[in-house]
Amino acid sequence: MKKTILLLFILQAFSCREKKEQLNLTQGLYISNVTLISTEDGNYNPYIGHLVVEKDKIIYIDKNEPNISGIFEQIDGNGKFVIPGLIDNHVHMTDVQGMLQHHIEKYPELVKEFNNQMPRSYLYYGFTTIINLGGISDERINSFNMQLLKPDLYHIGYSGAAVANGYPMIYTPEEFRFEIEPNFIYMESQAEHIPDKYKPADHTPKAVVKRIKNSGAIAVKSYYESGFGRMSNLPLPTKSIMTELLNESHANGLVLTVHANSFTGHSFLADVGVDILAHGLWNWEKYKDVPTDSLPLEIKETLDLQIQKQIGYTPTLTVIEGEGALVDNEFINQPALKKVIPKNLLEWYKTEEAQWFAKDLFSESNVEEVHKTYGNVQSHAMLVLKYLSDNNGLILFGTDTPSGPIYTNQPGHNGYWELKLMKKAGVPLHKILASATINNAKAFHLDSSIGSLAIGKKANIIMMTKNPLIDIEAYDAIEKIIIGGEVIKREDLEVKE
Ligand SMILES: [Zn+2]
Repeated sequence: MKKTILLLFILQAFSCREKKEQLNLTQGLYISNVTLISTEDGNYNPYIGHLVVEKDKIIYIDKNEPNISGIFEQIDGNGKFVIPGLIDNHVHMTDVQGMLQHHIEKYPELVKEFNNQMPRSYLYYGFTTIINLGGISDERINSFNMQLLKPDLYHIGYSGAAVANGYPMIYTPEEFRFEIEPNFIYMESQAEHIPDKYKPADHTPKAVVKRIKNSGAIAVKSYYESGFGRMSNLPLPTKSIMTELLNESHANGLVLTVHANSFTGHSFLADVGVDILAHGLWNWEKYKDVPTDSLPLEIKETLDLQIQKQIGYTPTLTVIEGEGALVDNEFINQPALKKVIPKNLLEWYKTEEAQWFAKDLFSESNVEEVHKTYGNVQSHAMLVLKYLSDNNGLILFGTDTPSGPIYTNQPGHNGYWELKLMKKAGVPLHKILASATINNAKAFHLDSSIGSLAIGKKANIIMMTKNPLIDIEAYDAIEKIIIGGEVIKREDLEVKE
């Protein structure tokens, strides 16, 4: 009796496997015989197989051919590679690269052309998701989402949780500062410099995080930055403020990502145990002049703590690279930029007027000096990244596009630059890909819908003619971008003449 039941069970199991599920598509997409490159845990086992999308979701992925019927588009993936859409976890899409407010007011046409192209430029380089880590208004979110072709946008609310009169709100004149940063944290030490109409109870970490949550944000952004040059010794968050921000973020299902690039900042935040560091550690402070190939013990200890706590580390190497590139004409004359920057804006960047920031930064140094200084800082940044990569650190892809009012961090293009710099730092290609897909998706709690090629996930897919696990240039050998099941040819995303 028992034997018969067992036999029946086996037979049934077999017949189930034999009988392929029939997929009846109404608005389908079938990519056949393609090399599938995706991971859930950081290990890659690419294989040639088949992928089926219905409407905006992946419904089938396997090495066996699917059994499909109905209405669908088929793409022959022979010799091609597909990966999940890339995620840049640190952008400022509200900025216009290279412009201050008075430039924006003076050149509304350039701004308009830029904003029309910007979402397409992110897609052009395979970025199907961007996370805006600066304040954003509902109007701006809506105008972005009205665009026909655009990446998925996530944000941190109307402003970050900055301490009153600290970084970055100190850069806004006092009369607008508090309005522009509605989620500032009240500190008693700043009470004299906060207008009376702002009540301390509305600016506790708890109240602030609640507001950020209610604005539809996925993360809380905070800052640990004492400032630079003329603006140094800025007020800093205390350990109890940062800890409270972390706890309140978690209580609201949000992630805490914090700006810091100094040794002091990274040590402080590793100690608190925040979720994500929004920048790499390149400001080595008292160690700034040590040889570029040695990692001081104290810095190593901070990195070990970040690794032990699995704090997400966002290298943002293009911050240094982009700023340094302002002294060269090489950057702006790259042919690739013509595909992602509208022609008139590109011309403006070449004018004397657009060089205002470079003049501001480098008035007292020549080109060689600038290269030397930035080269030194970047070697340190790369050394830290290599150490984290070699020792199981949690690396998250993010660019900080643009990191300041600079034209050298352009949408999409800057992401490709960042990927190449990570490779240059010695991060293996599979870790680079994971950082920009599954790692970011998990770190920002987006992995139920994006970050890998899996059944039920959103069909954000990049098709390449080169293998990104073998060749970093695969990220510029993109043939098609699929966002929410919609197939876009790469050339259709270029700037239109
Ligand atoms: Zn930033």
